[in-house]
Amino acid sequence: MKILVLNAGSSTLKSCLYELNDVLSDRPPQPLWSAQIDWTHQQGIAELKVKTATGDRLEEEFTSESRTDAISRMLETLWKGKTQTINDLTEIDIVGHRVVHGGQEYQQSTLISPDVKEAIARLSVFAPVHNPVNLEGIEAMENILPNVPQIAVFDTAFHAQLAPAAFVYPGPYEWLENGIRRYGFHGISHQYCARQAADILGRDLSDLRLISCHLGNGCSLAAIRDGVSVDTTMGFTPLEGLMMGSRSGSIDPGILIHLLKQSDFTAEKLDDLLNRNSGLKGISGVSSDMRQLVQAITQGNQRAQLALDIYIHRLRAGIGAMLASLGGLDALIFTAGVGENSPVVRAAACEAFGFMGLQLDGEKNQQSPVDRDIAAVDSAVRVLVIHTQEDWEIARECWKIALCSG
Ligand code: ADP
Repeated sequence: MKILVLNAGSSTLKSCLYELNDVLSDRPPQPLWSAQIDWTHQQGIAELKVKTATGDRLEEEFTSESRTDAISRMLETLWKGKTQTINDLTEIDIVGHRVVHGGQEYQQSTLISPDVKEAIARLSVFAPVHNPVNLEGIEAMENILPNVPQIAVFDTAFHAQLAPAAFVYPGPYEWLENGIRRYGFHGISHQYCARQAADILGRDLSDLRLISCHLGNGCSLAAIRDGVSVDTTMGFTPLEGLMMGSRSGSIDPGILIHLLKQSDFTAEKLDDLLNRNSGLKGISGVSSDMRQLVQAITQGNQRAQLALDIYIHRLRAGIGAMLASLGGLDALIFTAGVGENSPVVRAAACEAFGFMGLQLDGEKNQQSPVDRDIAAVDSAVRVLVIHTQEDWEIARECWKIALCSG
């Protein structure tokens, strides 16, 4: 079965093609083909990068009138030219889409119908940056492959079983009735990491208490018991919780009231400040990128040091909160750009939990561990670095649906 995965973001679009057999392997296979379109560099110009499992590569720039045009060009590289992987697009059995917000309605992956599309559009008020582009991706694929089933895999779905005490905000009760509640995000990544953790540890997922730290440009934690998310740091939007690359994470809402009372302040300005000019970038004035931040620290930049100190302080506090929700811990997982690549962040986060017997193996932490346990042999808690593979998780969800309906 050939499954095409589409992960459409606001300025980039990633896609890959997997071939799955009747029995799923636990370890993710290599995609047959993967591609990325990036619109960030020049207005109206798309940069396309493609690679195949056999090592062929293609890079090109083209003018793109619309997303459908750009996606069509990208898909051409699947069956034409040096990155050709299949004979034609009819070989694709299913298309899986990452959809950021599934609201209260969609608590698991779903075959896309007009009703599902209507819901994704309606939920755009809650996820204005993501849901509209996810929907555009779906519609583009429907135009290109009208007879192929399309599946929506939601980033919120993994957190669907949070208890009311964890998802209801202590504002007026009407908020809850109007859908203003905590949803949680990065669910596809947390779900993948939880299963992978069980595999690395050789234990049953239904017997584990895990904290998954997804630390990329966006950052969130999930407390996972028996494979189910019981608490998470992101909430109504992906702005709540930890300090992030350019997002503030949680701050006193009184600050927002204070700012909005200033006559020239607008909601748009607030959005820009909190989503794009806060976090590591806002405090350091250097960058939202952890690599550049650490480099600035080595050159004596005090604001960069302060940014890292806040990041660690809040990460530790978040892990502490997840710990309380779990009542104990078998493994702490680090994933995504920072989690997978920054020994400094991992060591600083873990140091705070030495009191409960959590101990890193310093040497293993310094190496570039992928899908490895980096805890000391006698640590009371395992510490895992897992390379998150959201696209593979989406393909798995599609495979499960195909199997159930087939
Ligand atoms: P996204 O959340 O957009 O998917 P990623 O998971 O790729 O992002 O994470 C991006 C971040 O990972 C970068 O901003 C950078 O701070 C961090 N990162 C990547 N490589 C390293 C590294 N070697 N050391 C420290 N941080 C890194």
